[in-house]
Amino acid sequence: MEEVRLAGCKVGPSLVDNHGRAITYVRLAVTDRCNLNCRYCRPKGACNEARRELLSYEELERLVRLLVGQGIGKVRITGGEPLVRHGMLAFLGRLKTIPGLAQLALTTNATLLAPRLEALRELGLTGLNISLDTLSPARFAAITGQDFFDQVLAVIEAALAAGIPLKLNAVVQEGINTDELLDLARLAESRPLEIRFIEPMPFDGGNGFVAGSWDLNRLREYFRANLPPLVEIVRSGSTAQMFKPAGFRGAIGLIGGYSRCFCASCNKIRVTPQGMLKTCLYDDGVLDLRALLRSGIDDRKLVARIRACVGARQPDGFAAARRASASGMAGSCASMATIGG
Ligand code: SAM
Repeated sequence: MEEVRLAGCKVGPSLVDNHGRAITYVRLAVTDRCNLNCRYCRPKGACNEARRELLSYEELERLVRLLVGQGIGKVRITGGEPLVRHGMLAFLGRLKTIPGLAQLALTTNATLLAPRLEALRELGLTGLNISLDTLSPARFAAITGQDFFDQVLAVIEAALAAGIPLKLNAVVQEGINTDELLDLARLAESRPLEIRFIEPMPFDGGNGFVAGSWDLNRLREYFRANLPPLVEIVRSGSTAQMFKPAGFRGAIGLIGGYSRCFCASCNKIRVTPQGMLKTCLYDDGVLDLRALLRSGIDDRKLVARIRACVGARQPDGFAAARRASASGMAGSCASMATIGG
């Protein structure tokens, strides 16, 4: 069987989809609960369904071991807010012991991070992504519904001091934070971090998604015109278009999640909190892993079912969205909290 390499590490037989894309990365949304209520993310009103049962840590670990055996070398834990789930640090510690898992990363809103930062550094987290949409405490509260700006900023500095590789995620919200894009970008001027600007996507829990005019192209031209000369950093399998402005310690990135311009090199699959496998952000779930895990299925058959889904992947996010709406299952209330970003 083919083998793939990730960050210099050989990671076993590869999962290659029907379009020739190697799958090396899984994002696990481990809860759909969150202690923030971001305006572009959270389900609202009738969409706020009762939570169904989550995959247990044991089920998640079994899944990760099987996926690593299939060539997945990177796992990202996300949510909802992963740090609201009880026992998260111990779970991360267990994942870290899985042979062949080269990269273990966490995406968090950082509000609960400070007391856990040292433990995360010790266990050797390879990447930390923190959401930060604004540098204004009042706007932070308006966007997230909570007044945690100072804590988040302090833990960003602490993570940098601890030497944990850090990325910041800012969702570009027209008329809300678009006057701060340069200030946000300049966080990377003196700090060794990446700040990535994300196009808003229609997973806002039915809050009335509007794409707005700040797409990838406009963002790139704006930063080209207003920051020191940008040198593109080419990184295979990266969702973001990355640039290093001259004289910056860190870098800026642009994520065209709505433009869907990186599908041709997409290397990731997702698992929702309730155990649906998604082979595209825009599909509505292609395999009920929870039902299979609880059916007593053996590892070989489970892997075969996952491989079959990877082998029937849609070519891009537009095709996946068309198929999801054709199936009538695509919820207009879908929230990123149930997908994990
Ligand atoms: N709670 C964690 C956090 O805040 O980072 C992890 C989960 S959150 C759903 C993951 C990422 O998705 C965050 O960076 C968030 O900004 C982004 N996100 C949420 N809703 C989005 C939307 N409608 N469009 C684009 N990005 C979104």
